[in-house]
Amino acid sequence: MRPWNFSAGPSAMPLQVLEHAAAEMTDWQGSGMSVMEMSHRGKEFMKIRDEAEADLRTLLAIPDDYAVLFMQGGATGENAILPMNLIGRKGSGKADYVVSGSWSDKSAKEARRYGDAAVAATSAGETVIDGVVQPPLTWFPAPEQWQLRSDAAYVHLCSNETIGGVEFVQWPDLAALGAPGVPLVVDASSHILSRPIDFSKAAVVYAGAQKNAGPAGVTLVIIRRDLVGHALPICPSAFDFTNVLANDSMYNTPPTYAIYIAGLVFKWLLGKGGVAAIEQENIRKASALYDYIDASGFYQNRVHPSVRSRMNVPFFLANESLNATFLAQADAAGLLQLKGHKSVGGMRASIYNAMPFDGVQALITFMKEFERRHG
Ligand SMILES: *Cc1c(COP(=O)(O)O)cnc(C)c1O
Repeated sequence: MRPWNFSAGPSAMPLQVLEHAAAEMTDWQGSGMSVMEMSHRGKEFMKIRDEAEADLRTLLAIPDDYAVLFMQGGATGENAILPMNLIGRKGSGKADYVVSGSWSDKSAKEARRYGDAAVAATSAGETVIDGVVQPPLTWFPAPEQWQLRSDAAYVHLCSNETIGGVEFVQWPDLAALGAPGVPLVVDASSHILSRPIDFSKAAVVYAGAQKNAGPAGVTLVIIRRDLVGHALPICPSAFDFTNVLANDSMYNTPPTYAIYIAGLVFKWLLGKGGVAAIEQENIRKASALYDYIDASGFYQNRVHPSVRSRMNVPFFLANESLNATFLAQADAAGLLQLKGHKSVGGMRASIYNAMPFDGVQALITFMKEFERRHG
């Protein structure tokens, strides 16, 4: 059996997808070519690309007035591409950023190169919720507290902070917060396809594929069509949404193999019953792990329960001097890549769609045994 891989990203892929790709590596469906050897404009690849888009649309119930773009540069590239395409939209050059962790902080900093990107709210300090002190970056700023500017070109947030393990899905109606008509832009890199997306609230959703949607190399951008067509003159032509959309994401050579593998992941998800079905599985996995951590006196998760991520579960050992031992023994037990991000410390278990319940159960069994021996 393969070990269980808890990497935050690039992360475990569904085994069926890897085996499927391996089987047609040298000859895709009798074409005599590997997908990576095909012209991106040939009929074979066009079919792969069109099916990938159609399947993604089905999985996320993407409305017709939203375009799907397959781009490159990762979510980090998109942090620059988005302001270059949107911040000039209204002439104010303004955008408001909610900072709830490392990734949204990076997004805000990148946007400042292109305009007046302000921090609308931040969880960088501690707060008190129901009389309990929450440490920095373990909570999400309440929408009523966001400082929004009605003339901003957009508001940006990260809906799943991969490093801190903070997930926020109660996206507000910005009109009710004094910013009517201002589009909400969401970095959903690390939980896209793990649960439904409310497109009545978000105008743009983007995600690097390598957490939950496929391999590194392709970035998914789902954007309301009226927001395309406002790029700054400095925007590289290959990153101008107008060009990308007009050419069905083939303005230049797209990451063909990455799109193909992402397409296989979409088909795998459809076969499992789609996003609603995988969401139930994700709830089951995350609940089992958090319940065990909360019940133990040996492990701790510090994120406020209302915004704990179903995908990324950071946790700490009561005795941090045992960290290296924990990681070495986990590795030997076939539980890989559990080391926490260096900015947080401790451990992190990333349990994306491709992680079955059995993998989470194996982790819990190992944690129990470790606690018994060292607790
Ligand atoms: C991984 C990640 C990124 C960065 O993605 P790259 O593809 O490496 O640029 C950005 N945002 C979030 C939420 C992430 O998890």
